Amino acid sequence: QSVGIKVGGVPPTSYHFKEREVVKMINVTVWNEHVQDKEDNVLAVYPDGINACIAGFLGKNDDINVTCATLDMPECGLKDEVLENTDVLIWWGHVAHEKVPDEIVEKIHDRILRGMGLIVLHSGHFSKILRKTLGTTCSLKWREGDRERVWNIAPNHPITQGLGEYFYLEHEEMYGERFDVPDPDELVLIGWFGGGEVFRSGCVWNRGLGKVFYFQPGHETNPTFKNPNVQTVITNAVRYVAPLNIRKEPIECPCAKAPEDELKKA
Ligand code: ZN
Repeated sequence: QSVGIKVGGVPPTSYHFKEREVVKMINVTVWNEHVQDKEDNVLAVYPDGINACIAGFLGKNDDINVTCATLDMPECGLKDEVLENTDVLIWWGHVAHEKVPDEIVEKIHDRILRGMGLIVLHSGHFSKILRKTLGTTCSLKWREGDRERVWNIAPNHPITQGLGEYFYLEHEEMYGERFDVPDPDELVLIGWFGGGEVFRSGCVWNRGLGKVFYFQPGHETNPTFKNPNVQTVITNAVRYVAPLNIRKEPIECPCAKAPEDELKKA
C-alpha cells in the first residue's frame, strides 16, 4: 500500500520519514499598560493582571516564547534589545495611551514596517501605535455590559482554525460601527451585540513588510481572555502575523542601476 495510509494493526513493510520540520520559535512580547489591573474590579477577574493571563495561555505552546512588558517599566519595557528580539508584539492599553512616548511608538512602527507582527486587543484601538499604523482615528461606539456573538466569516483563514461558525461571550463591552479604520485587507470575524450593533471584530492589515491584527473582545472587567475561543484566536493570530524574517536594514529609496545593463557588459 502507498506510504501514509494507515492499516489497522499491521506495520507497513516500508515507509519513509518525512524530514523533521524545523520549528521556528516565535518571540512574543505582551505589552499591557497595567494601570486598571491594579483596581479591585479587574483584580477580581485577573488576579495577576491581564498580561499574565495572556502570557499564561500563549506560553503553553512549544513554538512561542513570551515576555511581558508594562508602561511602568523603564522605556515602557520596550528597550531596543527587547524590541529587536520581538517577532510579535501584543498590545493592550486603555486609559494611558498618551503616556507612551512618541519615540517608542516610532521604534515600534519602524519595526512593523520591517516585518514585526502587531496584535492590538480591544481598547488598544485608540493606542498611538494602531492609529499611526493605520493612519485613521480608529474611533468607534461603545457601551459596557452587553453580550456578544462573534461570527467566523473566514473559516479557511489561519486565524479562525479551531473555531466554529460563531462563539458566544456572555459578558463583553459593545463596540459598534462605524469603526474608523481603512478597509481591512482581510476581515475574519464580525461581532454582533445584544443591543443590535455589529462590529468588524477581527481585521488584518498589511503594513510594509509587517502584518497587523486587531481583535475586539477583551474588556478588563470581563473574563474574556480566559475564554478558550478567544485564546484560540490570539494564538492563531500570533502564528499568522509572525514574520519569516525581519529586515535588519532601514527601508530606503535608492537610485538603482539597471540589471539589464549588467547583462550587456557580460
Ligand atoms: Zn473595554
